[in-house]
Amino acid sequence: MSSKLRILKTYLKYKNRHFKDHEDLKRYQEKQIRKQLKFVSTHSEIYEEYQGKPLSSYPLMDKKQMMANFDRLNTVGTNREEAMKLAIDSERSRDFSEKLNHITVGLSSGTSDTRGIFLVSDKEKDMWAGYILSKVLYGSILDKYEVAFFMRANSNLYESVSSSNIHFVFYDIYKSSEENIEKLKEQKPDIIVGQPSILLDLSNYASELKPRKIISIAEVLEDRDREVICKAFNCDVIHQVYQCTEGCLATTCEYGTIHLNEDIVYFEKEYLDEKRFIPVITDFTRTSQPIIRYRLNDILVERREPCPCGSCFTALERIEGREDDVFVFDGEDGNMVEIYPDFIRRLVLFSGDVRDYRIVQTEDGSLEVYWNEDDNMQSAFLNELQKMSEDRLFEMPAVNFYAYSFDRKKKLKRVESRRNR
Ligand SMILES: [Zn+2]
Repeated sequence: MSSKLRILKTYLKYKNRHFKDHEDLKRYQEKQIRKQLKFVSTHSEIYEEYQGKPLSSYPLMDKKQMMANFDRLNTVGTNREEAMKLAIDSERSRDFSEKLNHITVGLSSGTSDTRGIFLVSDKEKDMWAGYILSKVLYGSILDKYEVAFFMRANSNLYESVSSSNIHFVFYDIYKSSEENIEKLKEQKPDIIVGQPSILLDLSNYASELKPRKIISIAEVLEDRDREVICKAFNCDVIHQVYQCTEGCLATTCEYGTIHLNEDIVYFEKEYLDEKRFIPVITDFTRTSQPIIRYRLNDILVERREPCPCGSCFTALERIEGREDDVFVFDGEDGNMVEIYPDFIRRLVLFSGDVRDYRIVQTEDGSLEVYWNEDDNMQSAFLNELQKMSEDRLFEMPAVNFYAYSFDRKKKLKRVESRRNR
């Protein structure tokens, strides 16, 4: 089957697949899981011993284990050294067209010892493209679209979306805003895809760009930033695609609610409190490098009230951030007290009308606040923190204030923890 035909077929399949109710979805998922487990237990060495067993008996996986078992896990006979070499060479030369026997090798972000390599076959790539299009195109797949895509690396994963009517231009975030803006003005994109920090940058030029849809990817979209972008572009909804190398996990519906993509991924939820959870995912479509019971280190917040769109896919209130970015304070009773990123965010926003900020918990537990606010705001922040420490019974940490700065080559993380734990 040609690549374009496969994209179209996948697009139509998911665009037209509607579930009557939760039971209907559950039956569909069970069938997909059975099919996927049958495949992995006969093609992936590491899963051979689980043949015929239910999903719950399969081992939990994470990035570290996946990399450690890379050669035995993948079903395309690739070894880790070879794949890593290709991925690093591509990153260095910024030429991402080279493949390993029709397999694209991608590198997921992280420090050198936590970097993951991901394999995607041409077929999986087409299916991914068809799926994404079924979720984000506002009209028909046959209409004309100009898409501007901002990415850290131009994986040829994304280029597979380009076709005669969907014209897709890649923007390198390492280039200056001025250079990118000139190119954007020429392209006149209908859809702009980029991380929130880029979208915020573009907000300054909103009057010159008239996109019909704005899609946020790769970083947590803070409520405050969303409001700024919405206002600048005069739109009601910023769409979010929660997508990582492990899969396309959630997308926004027309009401602006993020829903889990439960038609291609099965989610087990490891609850942290009554609505926060860590997702453990099983992907129905990935076969080169199967994703089975893979534990992400993201914290998602479930939404209690149903979404007016009527979808039976789990609705999220928000994607809160990385589990690693939970702040940890010394408790008065000698134990550690964990504070979720969202509470840290509120701590800053309750201090006053703060536009740009970053707050970092350092290795020793002290806080660094980067913003351009005055002494009044600093004391308001310290008051809020004091209240929180009394309420949650932890010792007040040292706090230092600095001018706002952000390295645009990195992901913008407004709340970040580097505390050793
Ligand atoms: Zn919805």
